Amino acid sequence: MGIQTADFIVIGAGIAGASAAYELSNGGKVILLEMEASPGYHSTGRSAAVMTENYGPALWSRLVTASRNFLEQPPEGFTDVPLVTPRGALFLARDGEQAKLAAQAQELTRRGASIQLTSSEDALRYCPVVKASEFVSALYEPDCMDVDTNALLTSYLKMLRARGGQLVTNGKVKALKHSNGMWTVSTPAGTFEAPVVVNAAGGWVQQIASLAGLSYRNVVPFRRTAVVFDPPAGSDVRTWPMTFDVAETFYFKPEAGRIMVSPVDMAGSEPCDAQADELEVAIAIDRIHRFTTMEVHSVKHKWGGLRTFAPDHEPVIGSDPEEPSFIWLAGQGGNGVMGGVAAARLAASFALNAAIPADIAALGITAENVSPGRACVLDASGDRPVVGNLEVFESM
Ligand SMILES: Cc1cc2nc3c(=O)[nH]c(=O)nc-3n(C[C@H](O)[C@H](O)[C@H](O)COP(=O)(O)OP(=O)(O)OC[C@H]3O[C@@H](n4cnc5c(N)ncnc54)[C@H](O)[C@@H]3O)c2cc1C
Repeated sequence: MGIQTADFIVIGAGIAGASAAYELSNGGKVILLEMEASPGYHSTGRSAAVMTENYGPALWSRLVTASRNFLEQPPEGFTDVPLVTPRGALFLARDGEQAKLAAQAQELTRRGASIQLTSSEDALRYCPVVKASEFVSALYEPDCMDVDTNALLTSYLKMLRARGGQLVTNGKVKALKHSNGMWTVSTPAGTFEAPVVVNAAGGWVQQIASLAGLSYRNVVPFRRTAVVFDPPAGSDVRTWPMTFDVAETFYFKPEAGRIMVSPVDMAGSEPCDAQADELEVAIAIDRIHRFTTMEVHSVKHKWGGLRTFAPDHEPVIGSDPEEPSFIWLAGQGGNGVMGGVAAARLAASFALNAAIPADIAALGITAENVSPGRACVLDASGDRPVVGNLEVFESM
């Protein structure tokens, strides 16, 4: 088998790699390498698939803002189906948590969200199964949307092929060598060469950097568990919002006529085919029984997925400080689907050695604040990422 040459090699065909490959395919020939038999098998196929500017740290929130227009009005020919549909989000506070809810309301208003602060009784208008007696106040955010992740991923890949790009499945990267300005990438599906490599390998980004001979970067995966069960007979769940408690001990949302719940666990993990943790499944069911009027009679489906973070939870996008032709597109955490459009455009600008797109730069994104060379990413002994998003809201 001869060596295939391209302008760009992108590693990992989750939402990050597929979107970056699409963006780069305007600027040259792209080969997208995926170790699994099909794209989207890991984190991308396991998310809750919602979009809100009001979840996650500051820079990710801005990348979500910069992604919204594309998701709401995709380019001509990109897809025949809507990529986003209204969902809404409801945040619930117990006694003693009102200050947290108020701080969150203030932060969301500062970010320009339209919100309604209300009582837990009134929250039943949005989600009739909440146990209002468990909570004292609530916040409703109407702009939260569901994302059709499968349509987004397959549309990116369809457009990539239309522009002459190539997806190689069963193509696990086993070796990466850089010499004379070219990367040589070895996989069981063949050997590939390009002057620029994009590392979009999700939970495996550190392994890819290590294969490339680069130093450790503090971008590591954490497992999250999700459980699906049937709602009460006869209930029409389609209009129920994504419902969180502000203390971040659970969320639930409608999922194809059923209910998905997560105990919002965040357990350190090796990069792997993540599985649901049985203790976390039990905790998720307990939270449903304690905080809603629903009963989980049987688990219809459960899964685990990896969310990969830098210590500050912010994006890791740009040239590696040791080798500028090695581009990181990593640290998506819980924002990789909703903010992926703009993250890919940003990564492509670094790979093409071009200016950051003006709309993204206007939101305060700089090469420095998303850099793989920033101090917390370089520091192997640095703090591990904090759990949840409220701490991040408070530190912004
Ligand atoms: C339970 C849960 C809920 C979530 N909810 C949301 C949400 O509501 N909204 C949101 O925006 N985000 C959410 N997320 C986060 C989101 O799923 C991720 O941020 C996003 O999918 C990351 O995409 P990725 O392409 O970086 O990773 P992945 O989808 O994991 O893709 C990485 C790819 O790299 C491939 N790869 C790895 N090593 C190699 C190698 N050596 N050679 C070739 N290929 C390789 C893998 O096979 C994989 O396909 C959630 C995540 C979880 C787990």
